[in-house]
Amino acid sequence: PILRVAIMGLGGYGTRVANAMQACTRAKLVGAISGTPSKLTDWQQKYNIPAKNCYNYENYDAIKNNPDIDAVYVITPNALHHDAVIRVAKAGKHAICEKPMAVNAKEGQEMVDACKKADVKLLVGYRMHFEPHTLEIVRMRKAGEFGKITFFQGLSGFVIGDPTQWRLNKALSGGGAMMDIGIYSINGARYMTGEEPVWVTAEETKTNPEKFKEGIDETIQFQLGFPSGAVASCLSTYAMNNLDRFFLDGLNGWAELYPATGYGPIQGRTNKGEINQPVVTHQTVQMDEMAQIILEGKQPIIPVDGEEAVKDLKIIDAIYEAVKLAKKVPLKL
Ligand code: NAD
Repeated sequence: PILRVAIMGLGGYGTRVANAMQACTRAKLVGAISGTPSKLTDWQQKYNIPAKNCYNYENYDAIKNNPDIDAVYVITPNALHHDAVIRVAKAGKHAICEKPMAVNAKEGQEMVDACKKADVKLLVGYRMHFEPHTLEIVRMRKAGEFGKITFFQGLSGFVIGDPTQWRLNKALSGGGAMMDIGIYSINGARYMTGEEPVWVTAEETKTNPEKFKEGIDETIQFQLGFPSGAVASCLSTYAMNNLDRFFLDGLNGWAELYPATGYGPIQGRTNKGEINQPVVTHQTVQMDEMAQIILEGKQPIIPVDGEEAVKDLKIIDAIYEAVKLAKKVPLKL
């Protein structure tokens, strides 16, 4: 079976996913949802999408009556994911949602509950969870090749441009660098160590309060503690470049990914040498895998479901809380 997907939000990343999906064998782009009529006509031509599978933000609930669409992939600004996923669930369609799934854990849980109630699947666009170099390190760690895991370091950041973009507008983004890029270090810390954190500490630095207004974090350093005693030390920033690196340390070995999460070739090495794995288009692999998860109940090696994403949101909530209170915040995931 083929998963027939409509994309909602035809912006930068929506276009990247649409292009990558042209090479999919198990998922197919068949529909589009946009507030801009000209984008819909462009997409009809570019991706051979029938006009009857195109909707706008007012009328897309009618997708309920469209038997040719199985799932909607929500790729709009962060704060809009919550309502969109709930409407998709009510229309009886599976939902795939971009990261961050929501702007806090409470909204994320409401999305999980709505999809459960409607008996549809909810997956989150965590493309790294299907990336071969990443999966090879996870395999080696599970096989005990690094020994007892003691430390993870995640560095996630870039210098963000245009100060008027939605990513720097709290009403649409829900937060700053943490929501957008810091989240990669958060779920990286979890899948690289294989543990769930039990406490968080965090400190914020803001060098440009004009650009990064109240509620938009510029730079946050955060630490996570795990039940085994392992710790993670991470940096999330919109004000530094070249930060896209994961480092996992164990008593008998180590692994590094640099770059760890970018679109380009991921590069990795361990104490045993270079990691040689295929270079893939992340979104092509992601959508083919998600089609199998949704249609065939395939179990991914690293989970990508809504419950999984709520854990990341609980950690983000706790990081913001730790910054505000300037103290260690306990976590129970
Ligand atoms: P973008 O600005 O390029 O596109 C956003 C789209 O949403 C635009 O087409 C815009 O018209 C539309 N939109 C609908 N309602 C809107 C509203 N009320 N206000 C503003 N825009 C509205 O952004 P993007 O980079 O495509 O990001 C979209 C989502 O995808 C975000 O949640 C982001 O975190 C996620 N994303 C994920 C990855 C990844 O690698 N997984 C990469 C980039 C972005």
